[in-house]
Amino acid sequence: MKNLSRGLRASLKSFVCSKVSKMKEYLSHGGGVNSTALMILLKNQGIKFESIFVDHGGDYPETYEYINYLQKNGYLITILKPDVEGCSTIEEYCHKYNMQPLRMMRWCTDKFKLRVIRDYLKTPCIVYIGIDDGEKHRAFKKPLKEGVVNKYPLVELGIDRMMCKKIIRGSGLEIPMKSGCFFCPFARKSEIQYLKQKYPGLFERRKQIIYNAEKAKGKRHYRVISDYIK
Ligand code: SF4
Repeated sequence: MKNLSRGLRASLKSFVCSKVSKMKEYLSHGGGVNSTALMILLKNQGIKFESIFVDHGGDYPETYEYINYLQKNGYLITILKPDVEGCSTIEEYCHKYNMQPLRMMRWCTDKFKLRVIRDYLKTPCIVYIGIDDGEKHRAFKKPLKEGVVNKYPLVELGIDRMMCKKIIRGSGLEIPMKSGCFFCPFARKSEIQYLKQKYPGLFERRKQIIYNAEKAKGKRHYRVISDYIK
């Protein structure tokens, strides 16, 4: 926390002081930069909370290693395992129903993250969500269920991604890679290229998910497949 400006420290202090709650508090941890920075901030402010991470099997190996690394560095994180219609991973579910995660319909997030967290939460409670100030349009969504209060401290304190990285470095921890699934439809081309080079096995599994889903619909996804074949 050495690198934090005095102004930010003061804002943090007043943020915490203004919060009087006897409710159970959770941090939804995605294994990436923002939720890690938020975890450090909350811990350093003496807030008692439980970090929860959903292991749906789709994250990059780096993300799982990072969660492990945080645990080894004294950050307690509860790992939740989904069970969605008998499937513990998104990949398994994709193969079972010949589906793929889609940009327009984020069933993957809904079934394998949000519902798992929702079922775990004991209400009434506060859930801290690591959305940074640069993506505040994604914040202030409806809570997962009645009795849940969502909190977005990074947005409330005007902390952007750069500041998040500063907070992580300031605490002596390494910066995690951007979290996301290896078969995510939102992956940029550079991310797919990284996957292909570093994890050819995962890359093939990504292809297989898309291929099965497209085949089941009786068509081929030429654009995506040709991106891979180049
Ligand atoms: S990272 Fe992508 S594929 Fe994974 S749950 Fe989120 S939207 Fe779905």
